[in-house]
Amino acid sequence: MKKILKQIIGLFYPERCPYCDKTVKSGEIACPICSALFPEISYTHYAKGGFPCFSPFFYQGRYAEAVKNFKFHNRTDYAEKLAAKLVESVRSQNGGMKYDLITYVPMFDKKEKRRGYNQSKLLAEEAAELFGQKASTLIIKHRDNREQHLCKGLAQRRENVKGVYKAVNRDAIKGKSILVIDDILTTGYTLGECCKVLRRAGAGTIHCATVCAKTI
Ligand SMILES: [Zn+2]
Repeated sequence: MKKILKQIIGLFYPERCPYCDKTVKSGEIACPICSALFPEISYTHYAKGGFPCFSPFFYQGRYAEAVKNFKFHNRTDYAEKLAAKLVESVRSQNGGMKYDLITYVPMFDKKEKRRGYNQSKLLAEEAAELFGQKASTLIIKHRDNREQHLCKGLAQRRENVKGVYKAVNRDAIKGKSILVIDDILTTGYTLGECCKVLRRAGAGTIHCATVCAKTI
């Protein structure tokens, strides 16, 4: 059903390459030029606390632009294609791990309403579909804070995320292997804090994945 609906929508709004915005054939994850430029290997970084995080791209050039347009300029149509690269990266780096649950970094409710969507949730929903699963809400952000990219220095970023997340559906979390999805890994404090909350709720193995990773 979703496929048929997408084909109909595609007649009026052709799919576009997230990395250059040229039109692409339905189902292609990027245009041939951008595809040829994809990095051959994906990257494993670590969120704070030592949780592995898999990313297909560094946060630079066309990849940074794609994520910015997706996140700040309503390009939710990029979600499926960005998620496809994210999943490819997870599969190439995680040693064949199967996840019981796939979740995402939540936004504070009011902020999500203002933006109209949570980009990480959209990525998680698309990624979960590729794994033949459904995304789960396991964490909520119960306190608003300043956006991480507006914080100065590492200490401020670390303090800014402390205690802002909390686990929900704790019974579902216990002993489960979980993949946590976000758009960008920067200092790793945000993802690290989410992983910590899941660990405290009794989660088993926890991995993370983002579209881009930036090491500072
Ligand atoms: Zn392109």
